[in-house]
Amino acid sequence: MSYTIIGGGIAGLSAAIALKNIGIQAQVYEAAAEMRPLGAGLMLAANAIKAYRRIGVAEKIIARGHLLSRFQILDRRGRIITSADTAAVEKRYGLHNFAIHRAALHEALLAELAPAQVETNMRAVGFDRNQNGEITGRFHSGARRTTRYLIVADGIHSAIRRQLFPASAPRYAGYTCWRAVVDDLGLGLDGASETWGAEGRFGVVPLAGGKVYWFACVNAPRDDPERRAYRAADLRRVFRRFHEPIPSILEHTIDENLIWNDIIDLKPLNRYAFENVVLIGDAAHATTPNLGQGACQAIEDAATLVAEMEKQPNPIAAFQAFERRRLPRARWVVDTSWRLGKIAQTSNPALAAMRDTLFRFIPRSVNEKQLERLLDVDF
Ligand SMILES: Cc1cc2nc3c(=O)[nH]c(=O)nc-3n(C[C@H](O)[C@H](O)[C@H](O)COP(=O)(O)OP(=O)(O)OC[C@H]3O[C@@H](n4cnc5c(N)ncnc54)[C@H](O)[C@@H]3O)c2cc1C
Repeated sequence: MSYTIIGGGIAGLSAAIALKNIGIQAQVYEAAAEMRPLGAGLMLAANAIKAYRRIGVAEKIIARGHLLSRFQILDRRGRIITSADTAAVEKRYGLHNFAIHRAALHEALLAELAPAQVETNMRAVGFDRNQNGEITGRFHSGARRTTRYLIVADGIHSAIRRQLFPASAPRYAGYTCWRAVVDDLGLGLDGASETWGAEGRFGVVPLAGGKVYWFACVNAPRDDPERRAYRAADLRRVFRRFHEPIPSILEHTIDENLIWNDIIDLKPLNRYAFENVVLIGDAAHATTPNLGQGACQAIEDAATLVAEMEKQPNPIAAFQAFERRRLPRARWVVDTSWRLGKIAQTSNPALAAMRDTLFRFIPRSVNEKQLERLLDVDF
């Protein structure tokens, strides 16, 4: 029985490893010309680590990351709005909350697979299903590959999803985002933070080796040419009234390292499984990054998929069971993250001040319940 995965991102590689561990060698087709380590940082919450435990690679990934002892939301002057003690999460779930450089995660995942298992320069453009139910993937070069089962992990702009759901299109959240990693500035940070102001949001996340990953979101029109041209100096101007170490981090940011994206997600779908084809990761349920859960959900997909495949011999039934388990949870993440983004990006100064005050009064038990819903998952 042959298995094919379209897309060699976090979802596709995690699924390939999970399948390998139950004795299935899936072939991965990736659009990029080479598997180059790219990107900035990534926070992986306890649910993702639990999923990696299920897949059997958690310790190797934890070894390349940086443990976060807390996550705080601050105001522009650096005063605490909310604070989550992630060490307490670790105590409760016996798991880590941590941050990792995307390149390090990718390298760790790739190291688990045989080089020949991932074929690059293979951009899928669609698929056909023959009378026997076999799937033939079509690629931009004209190449075709036939498989019994197809796992679709080609991200938010998925070509295969567009074939299955022609009306599905990414939606713009109304804010745009810059990211970068800076070298060790001797800040000695042990927790992550996000600072909210009327002019935007700025996140600071320590990585291994003293490096710092930061992200900044501001409200803007979609694909704005003015924001496209922004350099670190422009961001220094936007965030000039934000507390330290934000100005220093921007001061040390190299323009060439800036990554810029409009923030988009996918309006929740009502289906992931189509007989012997299944959508996973951002291709199925791309979310805004406000809960830091996009990749975590992709990793949950990989763990859930193999958990269902282990339960029953019929992969089509397993794909359906996967869909039943994953649809409600992924929808909740997408919706909650979308709403949180709207609150966090409030640009009216009076409303922003009111929001900060209200958030300070949210009882700890409410925050903990939300966190529990996010982290308390089994595979
Ligand atoms: C600013 C920002 C910050 C974020 N922070 C976090 C965070 O802290 N924590 C977290 O959990 N998540 C975070 N995310 C979300 C996370 O990046 C995504 O959810 C995750 O990368 C999804 O993985 P994926 O493999 O499904 O898709 P992708 O990462 O998009 O990978 C898809 C892969 O498929 C390939 N591909 C694309 N099209 C084709 C094709 N037609 N044929 C073949 N291959 C193709 C691509 O080249 C790519 O390698 C963040 C996202 C953003 C934008």
